Amino acid sequence: MSKDKDEKLKKIKDEVLECKKCSLYKNRNYPVIGKGSHDAEIMFIGEAPGAQEDKTGHPFCGRAGEILDELLNSVSIKRQDIYICNILKCKPPLNRDPEVEEIKACSPYLEKQIKIIKPKIICSLGRYSMQFLMEKFGLANKIEQISKIHGSLFEIEIESQKLKFVALYHPAVATYNPNMKEILKKDFQILKTLNNK
Ligand code: URA
Ligand code: SF4
Repeated sequence: MSKDKDEKLKKIKDEVLECKKCSLYKNRNYPVIGKGSHDAEIMFIGEAPGAQEDKTGHPFCGRAGEILDELLNSVSIKRQDIYICNILKCKPPLNRDPEVEEIKACSPYLEKQIKIIKPKIICSLGRYSMQFLMEKFGLANKIEQISKIHGSLFEIEIESQKLKFVALYHPAVATYNPNMKEILKKDFQILKTLNNK
């Protein structure tokens, strides 16, 4: 693991722990900064911490996390080999959707995380991170409903590096709609192919 990456990510962690850039800091127990390999080739980007994540500071450790684990298992990807984080580092009240201003305030942390880790594949989980990442990385004209573009592969360029982008449904959708789990499983298959390249 590169020391340079570790130090840069530690700096972000320290900044987030002190962050008061939006009102969400008021009700957080722990911010959820991100977890996994700093040399990850695949980065998963969710929305925001839920109650369980807020209690522990770890991403996707509640019900949605169980589903994510099942999906990762289905393509033999281990959590320790990937990096998982969210657009918002602090939990919104009552699990509500992220607000534009909150995304604006918090997303610079995510952008830095991406540029430090330099993954080969970025997967958004859910429509908020899909929208943010596609706008940010030159795919604004390709944005459609997630029901249309889930599982599709896009190419993006970050600091002159080409990488792949895949928009995935948020695993939480499978908690209230079991059919969605099968769709997610199918979409995850693309990672099996990409990961072996
Ligand atoms: N949902 C998310 O988007 N992120 C988490 O970390 C947990 C649930
Ligand atoms: Fe700061 Fe992000 Fe937390 Fe808002 S959500 S207080 S911007 S770390």
